[in-house]
Parts: sequence; structure tokens; C-alpha cells
Amino acid sequence: MRRTALENWICSLEGMAELSRVSLEALQLERLNALLAREKARGGFYSALPAELGSLAELKGLPFTTADDLARRAPSLLLGSMGGVKRIITGATSGTTGASKRVFYTERDIEHTVGLFAAGISELAGPGDAVLVAMPFSGPDGLGELICRAVERLGARGVRAGVMQPLGRLDELLESERPAAYIGMSVPLLSLLRWRSLRGRELVIRRALVSGDACPAGVCREIERLLGSRLFPHYGSREMCLGGAVTCPAHEGMHLRENHIIAEIIGPGGESLPEGERGELVITTIDMEALPLIRYCTGDYTRFLPQCPCGGVTRRIDAVHRLGGDGMEALDSALFALPGLIDYSARREGDRLAISAAGDVDPRAIERLAGRLAGKVSASAEPAGPLFAGFYAGKRRILEGTG
Ligand SMILES: [Zn+2]
Repeated sequence: MRRTALENWICSLEGMAELSRVSLEALQLERLNALLAREKARGGFYSALPAELGSLAELKGLPFTTADDLARRAPSLLLGSMGGVKRIITGATSGTTGASKRVFYTERDIEHTVGLFAAGISELAGPGDAVLVAMPFSGPDGLGELICRAVERLGARGVRAGVMQPLGRLDELLESERPAAYIGMSVPLLSLLRWRSLRGRELVIRRALVSGDACPAGVCREIERLLGSRLFPHYGSREMCLGGAVTCPAHEGMHLRENHIIAEIIGPGGESLPEGERGELVITTIDMEALPLIRYCTGDYTRFLPQCPCGGVTRRIDAVHRLGGDGMEALDSALFALPGLIDYSARREGDRLAISAAGDVDPRAIERLAGRLAGKVSASAEPAGPLFAGFYAGKRRILEGTG
């Protein structure tokens, strides 16, 4: 099989003729040691660590960095001056409690992310295509614009949809712009496809890259059935400058950008787990200019997969779940089996789960399916008209209380 777009990008960025485990790991060790030496020299957050490691295996002996460190000590983690910082993102990501984490990027960090995005997107869109970008647009270096920059680099055209758009508005965009590809979260895509499908309309979208939230198995299957093509899941987080791993044409897991990230999977006692075993993903972000992290515990749960059928040498991770998830993924998988369901929200009210649904769906069917997972459930449903804009702007979760 041909080399994947991700690996072509790594080779061209790093000036490597061929990619092998040996060359990739030599690059990782060189970058890790450069980072450790810089930290020692500047007396930075990691200055107590050794200035040089003899092998990548020695990384496993270094302490972890936690989300709490990132929240409390971001300025001391910051490498280089604030003057070079292009973008700061503050805010707790889903599943985090306590102080807000702040992450910083430089122009170069952002450029690398755009390069990774372009490599991942090139597997599903090319010159002349229109791509519906249903991600937040929050300024010139926000996620939506970075994706559009990557799309345009491929000679394709980004259609800036954003999030929480009314279905009627998205419907118009599909008619006027004819996007063959979609980039955004999974459930909003399923909502849109179903809404059109139930009206007997052409779906227009043929391929999709899903990111920004979990992609529950039942939701994935249903989207793939409607699209008639396999999905391209992407994994990224703020701590890795938004881009981490992309799907290759084999559609079996996501390949990591290992020129910038050393990944480990650890067990509950912090021990390193072998390929195939599920645990927490820990990342060391080598070659991030603004905010490199050493052994950062992501709070995301996955496993390494064996070598990919595509023949690529970069390591793959399986689907990613939040550690200690609230059950929303399982609920999504179960409830979207109801063909008329467009979207729903779930709220825990005392000992009862209250579900508000949009779509042509029988509340008793929702209560029956959700009841198998969540005990006492009460459901209501309303039709989803053209003004319906979804229940969740970001990651889906079970809401708390009656608010
Ligand atoms: Zn592959």
C-alpha cells in the first residue's frame, strides 16, 4: 500500500527520505533531550529532571504532569517568552474540575497543526471539493479557521458552518455549497443526515472526519450506513495543540504524529502497558514551542493497536474514551438505534434520568432503551423543525440537576 498522507507529511517536514521505527525514535530521543537541556538551562518547570536521557525507555522513569499542574503552573511550564505566544486558550475541557487549564501556542506550533490537519483531511477531500466545517469559529487561530486553512491548502474550499446551527440553515448550505465532505462532531452530523434522509432529500455529504467528541459505536455505524463510506475519526486535545492522530485509508485506529508526540499507555498504578491493553494515554509533546509537556496524563482512555494494514510505521491508537465517563456514550449508542431520533439531551434529576428528545420518536421507546442502562427514565419528544439547532454545543454529557 502507498505511504499514508500523514507519513508523507512527516517525511517532508523532517527532511527524511524514509520513515522507520529506528529513524522516528531517534528523532524523538533527540527532541526530548533538546527539551530537557533547554529546561535545565532556563531553570524551568522541568529543570529538576535529568538534562539528558540515554534512551526513550528512560522516559518511563520521569514523573507525570497532571491537568492540575497545567492549571496552576502554566506560566512556569511555558517555554520561551510570552512575546512569541500566538494564541492562549483557557478553560476546563470536559471532565475536568477545579482551576482552568491554560494552553499556549506559537505560530510554528499552529503551523504544525495545520500541516497535520491537511494530511488527515487529504484522505477524504481534494482539489475542488467543498468541505462543511462544523466546528467552533472563535477567531483567526481558532479551531474552525485552522481546519479551513488546512482545507484550502489542499485546493479545497471550507464552508464555515460553525456549531449549533439550525438544521434548516445547514440544509440550505448543503444545497447551495454542495459539500462532499464534513468535518465536525459525530452526533450533529447524524442529526443532519437523518433530518434530510427523513425528508427524502439527497444527503450530498459522502465522507466525514469526526472529532471534538466521542464517536459512540452505534452513532458511527449509523453515520457510515447513511454515508455509504467509512468515517475518518481524528483525535486531538488542547494540550497537543488540537491535533494528535488521524485515520488512514485502512480505517483501523488513528495514527499519531509521532514526530511531535511520544505516547504511552499507563495502568492505574502508573505502570506502562503493552500494546493491546487499555489504559490512560500519556503524552510527551516534543517540539512544541510554547508549551511542551512531559508525561502529561490526558484523562483519555485507549490502547495501542498492532502495526496497521496500511503498512505505516507510526503507532496507532484505538477509539478514545474519557476516563470515568458518565455513560453518555453508551446512551448515545443505544438511543440512536431509534431511526427517527434527531437529537436528545439527558439530565440527572435525583434518582431519575430525564430525556428531552427531538425527532419523530416515541418517548416510551426511549424510556425502554435508556432504562436498560440508566434505571428510572422519563422521556419527552418533540418534532425537530428547521429551527432546531441541537442540544449540545460541545462535548455531550449527562447534565446534572433541574437547571
Ligand atoms: Zn494505517
